[in-house]
Amino acid sequence: MTQPDHPRLRSALEGIPSYRPGRPATTTGDAPSYKISSNENPYPPLPSVLDVVRSEAARFNRYPDMFATGLVAAIADRLDVPTGRVATGTGSVGVLQQVVQATAAEGDEVVYAWRSFEAYPIVVQISGARSVQLPLTGTEQHDLDAMAAAVTERTRLVLVCSPNNPTGTAISGADLERFLDRVPRDVVVVIDEAYREFVRDAAVPDAIDVARDRANVVVLRTFSKAYGLAGLRVGFAVAHEPVAAALRKTAVPFGVSSIAQTAATASLAAEDELFERVEALVKERSRVHDALREQGWAQPASEANFVWLRLGERTTEFAAACEAAGVVVRPFAGEGARVTIGETEANDIFLRVAATFSPSAATA
Ligand SMILES: *Cc1c(COP(=O)(O)O)cnc(C)c1O
Repeated sequence: MTQPDHPRLRSALEGIPSYRPGRPATTTGDAPSYKISSNENPYPPLPSVLDVVRSEAARFNRYPDMFATGLVAAIADRLDVPTGRVATGTGSVGVLQQVVQATAAEGDEVVYAWRSFEAYPIVVQISGARSVQLPLTGTEQHDLDAMAAAVTERTRLVLVCSPNNPTGTAISGADLERFLDRVPRDVVVVIDEAYREFVRDAAVPDAIDVARDRANVVVLRTFSKAYGLAGLRVGFAVAHEPVAAALRKTAVPFGVSSIAQTAATASLAAEDELFERVEALVKERSRVHDALREQGWAQPASEANFVWLRLGERTTEFAAACEAAGVVVRPFAGEGARVTIGETEANDIFLRVAATFSPSAATA
């Protein structure tokens, strides 16, 4: 018998697209350069949050509280859910991985819209399950009818991203309820609300309310965006108890550091201050959106902290032009570019470049 002379890895890993992090800002000469490629919060940490992080740092020889007791209690209190319905993880991508591990494996299917969050195909493929991707509609929205129709006996999980990364479109309460009514009760549905705090359209529900009486619905939230803790890796799910318990089983033990736990708890306590910043970003989003419309772009309304430009074949060229002008955006070659709402100066640079690529500039 001959033995292979290389370490044997699971064939499910072959061809996994690697996650492309938003490129860092590049500085050329004296010109400022801004990173608006990863949907980060452009504001620095709040002094009150930095203070608790500093004092917690003095204890990092110890493992953190494995159950994140204080943080879980603060989340449960804030969202008016029992503590047993909250499960934490290393960012909501970590929690998503816990959900996939708890629901899907070889032979199973996971249904989601595409294009959507680029972590989805990676996490699904690692599990061995098969991705079933349903194209967005012509207005950059989830095609919920097609998604419901794509659910089969093999479907174990459905991922719904609202607002959707990278298009910024969000799903109305009526549409979401109709969709959930069509999905069998034994199929877990994740509603990824990473950008919930940026939503201003009153027709878009808080998914935690939608999920209150639906045992198969899991809501994902993160401290990375509105709360500005991207570098600390903490997110959570709100799920009914058996599912939440499964997410605690599949979590990396001690995954969420004490520093992240205390920073997240302090951020919940400092919400008033943090949400003033969110409000400023939302205002800036409106300004950018209106300017793009004026330039002739067919902009879908964004309910997140970024905008989406459907550039097609000119996407890569556009991203290069942005970089030369001092802003790094996130291109999806052949499709479009996602641009984070950042510092006013960064947004202005982006708008100047967008004007030269706009549909009206092309026909003028
Ligand atoms: C940014 C983002 C997340 C959050 O990721 P973290 O792991 O919490 O930093 C989750 N879902 C979507 C759609 C996102 O864009």
